[in-house]
Amino acid sequence: MPEPVRCRACRSDRGEIVLDLGEQPPWDRMPLRDAPLPDPVAPLRMWLCRRCGLAQLADDVPVAEELHGVEPLAFAAQSDRSVARLADAGLVRPGGRVAEFGSPHGESWLPRLTGRGMTALDPADPGAGPADLVVDVYGLLHEPDQRTALRRRAALLAPGGTLALQLLSLGTVLREGQWYDLRHGHHAYWSLPALDAALRGHGIGLHRAWWYPLSGGTLLVTARAGAEPDAGARRLLRAEDGLGVRTAAGLGRLQAAADGTGALHAWLVAERAAGRTVAAYGAASRAVPLVCRAGIRSDLLAAVGDAAPAKQGRRMPGTDVPVVAPAELARLQPDRVVLFMPELADEVRAELPGIEAAGGRWVVLDPAPRLLGRVAAERSAGRSPGAHGGLRLPS
Ligand SMILES: [Zn+2]
Repeated sequence: MPEPVRCRACRSDRGEIVLDLGEQPPWDRMPLRDAPLPDPVAPLRMWLCRRCGLAQLADDVPVAEELHGVEPLAFAAQSDRSVARLADAGLVRPGGRVAEFGSPHGESWLPRLTGRGMTALDPADPGAGPADLVVDVYGLLHEPDQRTALRRRAALLAPGGTLALQLLSLGTVLREGQWYDLRHGHHAYWSLPALDAALRGHGIGLHRAWWYPLSGGTLLVTARAGAEPDAGARRLLRAEDGLGVRTAAGLGRLQAAADGTGALHAWLVAERAAGRTVAAYGAASRAVPLVCRAGIRSDLLAAVGDAAPAKQGRRMPGTDVPVVAPAELARLQPDRVVLFMPELADEVRAELPGIEAAGGRWVVLDPAPRLLGRVAAERSAGRSPGAHGGLRLPS
């Protein structure tokens, strides 16, 4: 009999499993290439709290240090945009005090903020005093206890202070069918409406919200005492509620998407039958459940290229597909390279011109595999291949 689930934010035990990915290996540790299979696995399930609407991990599985990948330029550029937006909103002031709750995903914003004259406080230091600006960059989702985490962030605020959060909202995950964003160690999947209600429970109101195309839809939101959502935030709240982010019926579409990984497997089988070699690029954490759920082994996917030295010489968790350096990937002369992180398309194609020069083609998951046009054709059509489709998230 499994333990009853209790909400990480409101402590209610009323809710239901809305996405069940079965047993999944840890995604944060890439085993050495020769490490014997099978890898240990643990249940990976999303539970929706009926009371507060927070979608969350049902199970607590120990997750070790996450692998720090190479920060894609796209994420650094988003950090620049977000900090500039906060500055435009008058929230980044010389002499102001800032505390950051960071994450293993991407770099700290502190150099950008102290570079604009702010003073950094350590949120872990009990004597640090209040902050005019508390920033959370993908930090919240790593907190097993969401009630305590929100309380800490709210309690750090000076009178009139602002909390700024950057997150991949559940609205994006649902709209884009990104079921593979569910993973061990990522405890909370906030939708904007659920976050708004939870923040109010901690005495701060959602104020502004900006949408960015990164990862299919990244939100930067601000909240402070006494605030009400402005017109832009209200629009995003309505849009997410319209998707059904707080209903089991709405989130059930993620299960349907997860059950559709057969399309990738079928495509790989067809490519092999046609005599083509398929590899992939981006040994991202989000690629792990995809590869595992689709039952992909090295006879279908020759290798996954990744620029992070920490991942090279290893294999994808749960399967024998090796992770190799980009140069090694190019040497394989694959006929097809599936981009597990399409936002890297421009960077990777520029870095590895040899793939296309040798007749290979890049492929994105949209969610079905789709060949990208050759670089010149995409450019002349004025499209960015990374702007749509498939698998997009940090690390
Ligand atoms: Zn709840």
